[in-house]
Amino acid sequence: MSAELPDGRRTGFVAVVGRPNVGKSTFVNALVGTKVSIVSDKPQTTRNRILAVVNRPAGQMVLFDTPGIHKPEHSLNRRMVETAVRSIGMVDVVFWMVDVTERYGPGDRHVRDVLARAKRPVLLGLNKIDRIPKPQILNAIDAYRNRLEFAEIVPLSALSGDNVALAGERLLAHLPLGDALYPEDFLTDRPERFFVAEMIREQVLHLTRQEMPYVTGVLIESFKEDGDLVRIEASILAERDSQKAILIGKGGSMLKEIGTRARRQIETFLGTHVYLGLFVKVRERWRDNGAVLDEMGLGEGEGRASAKRPRHE
Ligand code: GDP
Ligand code: MG
Repeated sequence: MSAELPDGRRTGFVAVVGRPNVGKSTFVNALVGTKVSIVSDKPQTTRNRILAVVNRPAGQMVLFDTPGIHKPEHSLNRRMVETAVRSIGMVDVVFWMVDVTERYGPGDRHVRDVLARAKRPVLLGLNKIDRIPKPQILNAIDAYRNRLEFAEIVPLSALSGDNVALAGERLLAHLPLGDALYPEDFLTDRPERFFVAEMIREQVLHLTRQEMPYVTGVLIESFKEDGDLVRIEASILAERDSQKAILIGKGGSMLKEIGTRARRQIETFLGTHVYLGLFVKVRERWRDNGAVLDEMGLGEGEGRASAKRPRHE
């Protein structure tokens, strides 16, 4: 259904959306298989929950859950829809899952409206095909094909595994070309930290470009959900006092600017209010320090540091 895309490794973000019980978690688990990176089901404040990081020879995709768009229609107001549209706007591709045994209802209509406004390619996953006779799959496709301009429609069974790999392949095919964000064997239940650190680092590089080429590390010291606020404390690592001075700036102006910009980005990313406390620490040759690299999720020294860097440099 889609145009063929050129070769090369792809990487990016996929939002997995749909009403409760359509099979999103089952799908993510099936796709990740035994190479589980992250699958967490604990309730969180953050709107964009990372479900998993999936590695394939063709690339890497980070799967998000965006609970904001599953809210029932009656409790929605314009602002909530705008928030949902914004969080969908942060991903590269949307995977909208529906249950073929359920009727298209108000909940689906709401998801549809959000997706129509977000202007992102949407792949439709018609799930639970194991529960209907094969010929009815075509009816299901017909029932949905005009609801939205889908990039592709994939009938599947997350439970039996039918077409799960295909759905993964097609999602990957719609991601932008690029190197993996995570080291391939990156295992953690706190992937948000990684992205938050990257966003801070990105602002450091952006604001100090001339003076601090490629020397900045960011360490997330704490990451706590507190009501509808997320409190984050992070250290920016400098290798020398002179660099520390640049990072802090006159009267703290540079650090303040880095913090303000990074916080805004993190708030959009997490879909929640954020308190961001930033510190600058001098750690000589931090890049040779295994413990620091471990904390940053880069572990076991050598060769790893380069694995996480491509995106923002
Ligand atoms: P979520 O709320 O969208 O994350 O849905 P879950 O993944 O938790 O699945 C909800 C229920 O649907 C569970 O009982 C699953 O076992 C079941 N389920 C998920 N996918 C399929 C499928 O492809 N076929 C069938 N028959 N059941 C499925
Ligand atoms: Mg679920």
